[in-house]
Amino acid sequence: MTKAERSAYVAARLEELYPETPIPLDHRDPYTLLIAVLLSAQCTDERVNKITPALFALADNPAAMARVPVETIRGIIRPCGLSPRKSAAISELSKILLEQHGGEVPADFAALEALPGVGHKTASVVMSQAFGVPAFPVDTHIHRLAQRWKLTSGKNVVETERDLKRAFPRESWNQLHLRIIFYGREHCTARGCDGTVCEICRTLFPDRVRPVKTRK
Ligand code: SF4
Repeated sequence: MTKAERSAYVAARLEELYPETPIPLDHRDPYTLLIAVLLSAQCTDERVNKITPALFALADNPAAMARVPVETIRGIIRPCGLSPRKSAAISELSKILLEQHGGEVPADFAALEALPGVGHKTASVVMSQAFGVPAFPVDTHIHRLAQRWKLTSGKNVVETERDLKRAFPRESWNQLHLRIIFYGREHCTARGCDGTVCEICRTLFPDRVRPVKTRK
């Protein structure tokens, strides 16, 4: 199969498996999504969703969050890990949203990435899932599966994002990145695979007879 044929098959098969693409992180608006995505760094969405109800009950907008002592935020989010850095970022970005963006989350990659604690992946998730702007946030699942499906060399997430954006039509990115994550969590996990166990690889690589060593 050519790369284009593999991409087309992956997109079609994942759409069959995951017709709906619910956003994994619970939120009610761009601000609470931004905070939830920030908290999800090196943490599972399940755990973030357990933590955010208490945090958002205390403050669910920049003005309220800016008044909450960082230590209080830290105490609530501690189970998500990296709490000193994350609590400081939540407090600081809330103040910046008030001072520079009228208390609103900017629908702009550069403005988002200028906020503390917000990198390109986080900005891409917010642009895609809060504002519907086509983006292809590459997390560990997407980076791993794109390599296993030979859609990218996967030297780094920047290359993987570039290759996936070339491989798939722009209008498909927002749902497709979620579908790849869902498949990665459910079937193609980080526990390693010999690349022969499921229909996706058997279809993509029909001549593959011997197990292959795939990167994590
Ligand atoms: S065979 Fe393994 S590597 Fe290939 S898609 Fe299935 S689970 Fe992933």
